[in-house]
Amino acid sequence: MRVTISGAGLGGLCLAQGLRQAGIDIDVYERDPAITARFQGYRLMLSPAGLEALRGCLPPRWHRLLDAILGDARAGRLILDPQLNPIGELGQVRTGIVADRHVLRHLLLTGLPVHTGAALTGYEPRDDGRVEARFTHRDPVTADLLVGADGITSAVRATLSPQTRPTDTGVRFVIGRTPLTGQFASLEPALGSKITGDGVSLLLGAMQFRTPPREAAETLAPEVTLPDVGDYIRWAMVLPPAGSLDGMTPQEAVLSRTEGWHPDLRALIEQADADHSTLLSIRVVEPRERWTPGPVTLLGDAIHATSPTGGNGANTALRDADVLRRCLIATPQDRLGAVEHYERQMFEYGAEAVRSSLDALPSLTR
Ligand SMILES: Cc1cc2nc3c(=O)[nH]c(=O)nc-3n(C[C@H](O)[C@H](O)[C@H](O)COP(=O)(O)OP(=O)(O)OC[C@H]3O[C@@H](n4cnc5c(N)ncnc54)[C@H](O)[C@@H]3O)c2cc1C
Repeated sequence: MRVTISGAGLGGLCLAQGLRQAGIDIDVYERDPAITARFQGYRLMLSPAGLEALRGCLPPRWHRLLDAILGDARAGRLILDPQLNPIGELGQVRTGIVADRHVLRHLLLTGLPVHTGAALTGYEPRDDGRVEARFTHRDPVTADLLVGADGITSAVRATLSPQTRPTDTGVRFVIGRTPLTGQFASLEPALGSKITGDGVSLLLGAMQFRTPPREAAETLAPEVTLPDVGDYIRWAMVLPPAGSLDGMTPQEAVLSRTEGWHPDLRALIEQADADHSTLLSIRVVEPRERWTPGPVTLLGDAIHATSPTGGNGANTALRDADVLRRCLIATPQDRLGAVEHYERQMFEYGAEAVRSSLDALPSLTR
């Protein structure tokens, strides 16, 4: 069986690793000219299920390395005023394991045939039950299964389920990171807490690697090369639809709404790593319309894009990868049955993931 995956994000790469382990031929096509072409390095909160799915797809010889490059999230669980005085407690907060997306992606890329600068432009089912996929700057390829893991603007979805489109919530999300130094020791109680005032909230979280990623790879799996990333504080602000951010950098957008806030909070934003800070519109994709199962399917944000504030998009994409891998391995001779079995499960938990991410949104815009 040959599986062609469009999109080298977390979901597509996780699936590729899982299928490769099972001896299934795969190739991955990525639109970006290089893996590091865009802002990608944010902290992800991994749920136990997401982590288990990831482990299931990775070769066991990398499990120790995976453990070493994760971090343990701290949960302050407090609501603080802009001068960092406690004014309440957060209700239910997600705690657990955190990962840096950029580092994780490098681990997932190891050993895979990934063709960069190759955007999928369309596909055509063939009479023999296979599918032909077309890409920019490459000859078409024929596969038994084409998986659209090509994110929220999925070109595969545009053909497979044209009525399923992203919806813009109007809410903007500013996210960035600042190296974690002794200067920010006073912010310790604010990690995992919400700082709220002037109609906005700032969320802080630490990414402290159990072992520096490059060092961990050199010691535990020399065939893997990981980027040299230090510990950092991730800051994020959710901005309600009103108000213009035209021409502002992510730092300016946050600083303009936090005038008079504690000097250490201001310094944190001022000293941010500008290359790893960004301003995003929150868009979602809700999986509604089923299609007739065939040699083309979707996974991850391509079919169920959640609000990043839900902290479940990556976990759900990893789950997809693991579920699809298991289905294909269980019945390799019945490929369409395997795809149908995967899609039935994915549609249900994918829709639930989008709903719960949207439920979490209003409390973060104040
Ligand atoms: C700031 C932020 C914080 C987040 N925090 C969390 C969190 O804490 N926990 C969590 O679970 N989730 C989180 N998420 C969500 C999570 O990052 C996404 O849900 C996840 O990355 C989706 O993975 P994916 O593989 O489906 O898509 P992506 O990671 O978006 O990958 C899609 C890939 O496809 C490529 N592509 C696009 N079009 C084409 C084409 N035509 N041909 C070929 N390739 C193409 C893209 O370049 C990209 O590399 C966060 C998201 C953001 C933005």
